[in-house]
Amino acid sequence: MKRPILYIVIPCYNEEEVLPITAPQFLGKIKDLAAQGLISDDSRVLFVNDGSRDRTWEIIKRLAKSDEHYIGISQSRNRGHQAAVLAGLMEAKDVCDISISIDCDGQDDIDAMDRMVQEYLNGCEVVYGVRSSRKTDTFFKRTTAQGFYKFLSMMGAEVVYNHADYRLISAKVLKEFANYKEVNLFLRGMVPLVGFKSTSVEYERHERIAGESKYPLRKMIALAVDGITSLSVKPLRLIMSFGMIVAFLSFVGVVWAIIAALSGHAVAGWASMTCIICFVSGVQLMCMGIIGEYVGKIYMEAKHRPRYIISERTQDE
Ligand code: UDP
Ligand code: MG
Repeated sequence: MKRPILYIVIPCYNEEEVLPITAPQFLGKIKDLAAQGLISDDSRVLFVNDGSRDRTWEIIKRLAKSDEHYIGISQSRNRGHQAAVLAGLMEAKDVCDISISIDCDGQDDIDAMDRMVQEYLNGCEVVYGVRSSRKTDTFFKRTTAQGFYKFLSMMGAEVVYNHADYRLISAKVLKEFANYKEVNLFLRGMVPLVGFKSTSVEYERHERIAGESKYPLRKMIALAVDGITSLSVKPLRLIMSFGMIVAFLSFVGVVWAIIAALSGHAVAGWASMTCIICFVSGVQLMCMGIIGEYVGKIYMEAKHRPRYIISERTQDE
């Protein structure tokens, strides 16, 4: 069998501090895998600059000059992690046999790549990297992240537990994945939908080597909401059930009011009135918010805007 060409896809946003440290590690991994005879020497480390404001793109260009295994593309502006990974995967899909997406901060153990490639050679088309523990994450990050996965599955969005965006995808799957045209991206929920034989490998998650997290709580919540609303309509169903309960209670209230009026006790009740109005209007506003979230998604999808725009490539220079 011909040795597969591997593209390691790495999104980078303001990563001037870590890139010089981790880039040689990725290159070393490619050389190591090639030396073991697992992958072709035409494999590449593909950096995706996500509109960084610091010197990240200069560093990528310099790396590309220093070794032919490094290549880079630059997005025309910052569009977020998911779009950056997608841009890299789509760039790689026609030239590689397998892609592995990984963050550039050295948190994910690159030695898991050996096992990922091995699983591919054994016939798997998708291999998910799964964190075996979160010892090195702060308590806050760990609990919020775990809550994130629990909440997602409660809301009907199926994701691989403790799997972020460290995964191997074969070119075959990438070509099918290219047909998923949605603008609201939640890669880790979309890849399982494509299907094909998959498995997962465990790895230890380390601390960030340098720089700070680009995923504060605010972005994590946005990602969770995006994930749920782009993968599942369960929130709409919950509104429906909740609406039915409230409707039933209102019906009981109406009967009660009529009986009270007929038996001549109708004067009382400013407090009960106020409570009911506040409760029902609160519930309605909340439900409208959830529906609005879906309408907003439809709005964004209807525009068919490009999901990423590549403004520069190191290969072109
Ligand atoms: N990232 C990106 N665009 C963004 C934010 C982050 O390309 O708008 C990249 C970042 O450079 C890193 C990866 O996404 O390679 C994950 O980000 P980070 O390590 O900050 O997230 P955390 O590991 O803390 O969840
Ligand atoms: Mg990180």
